[in-house]
Amino acid sequence: MAAPDESKHSDGALCAAIRVHMFATGPKCTDRTIGAVELVVPDTTPGPSGVCAHKWLVHPPEDMTVVSTIEPLTGISITSFKDAAKDPIKVVAEQLQAALRKLGDGAVLWGHASAEFSLPARTELGIQHLPYKSIADKFKHANLPGSKWAHQFFTFEVVARVMLGMLPAALVADGAYCSAVLQLAQHAPPTEEQSQAMRRQARATKSFAARNATYDGVCMGHIASGPYGWACACRTRTRTRRKW
Ligand SMILES: [Zn+2]
Repeated sequence: MAAPDESKHSDGALCAAIRVHMFATGPKCTDRTIGAVELVVPDTTPGPSGVCAHKWLVHPPEDMTVVSTIEPLTGISITSFKDAAKDPIKVVAEQLQAALRKLGDGAVLWGHASAEFSLPARTELGIQHLPYKSIADKFKHANLPGSKWAHQFFTFEVVARVMLGMLPAALVADGAYCSAVLQLAQHAPPTEEQSQAMRRQARATKSFAARNATYDGVCMGHIASGPYGWACACRTRTRTRRKW
C-alpha cells in the first residue's frame, strides 16, 4: 500500500467519524460483540469534494452467536446480518486502520460515545492510540454547582435533532449517522439556548433503552427503579454505574 500523503493534512484539521454497532449475544446487557463498524472520512481525492463511507459487518467470535442486532438502534436486521458476508474482527480492524492511516497523523477520530465509554471497542479495533473526541462530551450540559451530576449528557438523537434539525429516521441511512457526527464535530459549541433546547428534547423523548427495558429478550442496560432497587432488567448494572 502507498504511504499516506501527509503534506495534504499538515494543518491537522482533518477528522473522521466512526460508529460501532454492538450486537447482543445473550440476555444480559453485557452480552455484546462488535457487529458492524461504519466510518466516514473526507474524500481527499482530487475533484468534487464529498465523503467516503465504509461499512464492515463483523463475524462474531467462534464461541458466540448473535441473537439480536437490536434493529431499531442499528438499522441492521438479523436476517440481513446472517445472510451477508462478514469479516473476522482482525480483518475489519486492519482495513479500518488502513483507511485511517490515509488521513495522516494530525487527523482526529470523532464518535458519539465518551472516550472512556468507547475505549473497549476502540481497543478491540486497535485504534485506541489515535486522537479521539466525543460528540456527547462536546454537547454536554453543565449542571448547576451542587447538582447530583456535574453534567447532563444527551443521546445522539437529541443532539442531532436540536443542533442539525435531523429526525431519528434520517440517521438510519448508510453513512448518515457518521456524516452527522462529522458536521457536529465542526459545529460551534452549543449556546445556552441550544443547551436548554436539548434538555427539553431529552425530557420529551425518552431514549430507546428507557422505553424498552428489554428488546428481543435482551436487556438494554437502562437503570430504573424496580423491586430490586435501582438496576437494569438483568440486574448487572446498578445505580453506582454511570447513569448514561
Ligand atoms: Zn442489564
